[in-house]
Amino acid sequence: MIRATHIHKKYGNLHVLKGIDLQIAAGEIVAIVGQSGAGKSTLLQILGTLDKADTSVANCELRINDVDVLKMNDRELANFRNQSLGFIFQFHQLLPEFTALENVCLPAFIGKTKTADAEKEATRLLEFLGLSERLQHRPNELSGGEQQRVAVARALINRPAVVFADEPSGNLDTKAAKHLHQLFFDLRKEFGQTFVIVTHNEELAEMADRKLVISDGKILI
Ligand code: ADP
Ligand code: ADP
Repeated sequence: MIRATHIHKKYGNLHVLKGIDLQIAAGEIVAIVGQSGAGKSTLLQILGTLDKADTSVANCELRINDVDVLKMNDRELANFRNQSLGFIFQFHQLLPEFTALENVCLPAFIGKTKTADAEKEATRLLEFLGLSERLQHRPNELSGGEQQRVAVARALINRPAVVFADEPSGNLDTKAAKHLHQLFFDLRKEFGQTFVIVTHNEELAEMADRKLVISDGKILI
């Protein structure tokens, strides 16, 4: 599903990722953990094609679904992302003027899905996430946990093979965080997605199929 080989990243003189090699299987839930500044977000951004690894490194490669993403141009990458990848961030970034249902539909419209089909899929996802009573609510009418679940539905609307999440529960209280974490496992069971999650939440890291510890730009075995 994901195979990263010799992934390096420098920002100027700062060598942030110092040779990451990893494989993630389809349907795996992987937690990326480590101290602040270790390079977790950078790694997630690179795996999610939002940032690019240093391609001057010999034999570096990043394959997602057997596609060599380091060889794609920006336009191909944008299409690939919209079709195959989903993203969840610490702060949900829902559009305040739109309802929950509309927010979830937006990525489907970018993908040119018909309105009725998008709304049907969005409704199904929101119901699965326990938000059937919230379809017509705007973000400011929802709790933090509900807002984040809407963001999860938005990440899933185009049925991505992989969902990347950066501190998805970082802004939630303990109860809402627990609920969100359980939903990742429920979603995997129902739809089979792969989840790659940067988290400081120890409970989530222990629940995951695998925990990758990043320290000083490398994976600690
Ligand atoms: P983590 O997610 O583990 O806290 P990050 O991947 O966010 O770590 O950051 C790793 C290091 O790279 C930090 O020292 C950070 O300041 C630096 N860094 C991250 N993004 C950039 C950037 N766009 N430009 C320059 N330095 C960056
Ligand atoms: P582009 O202009 O190429 O779309 P962006 O950095 O705006 O580049 O986003 C790249 C991709 O990352 C988007 O196509 C989208 O799939 C994903 N993405 C970025 N930010 C968000 C977000 N806040 N919520 C959901 N997906 C996002």
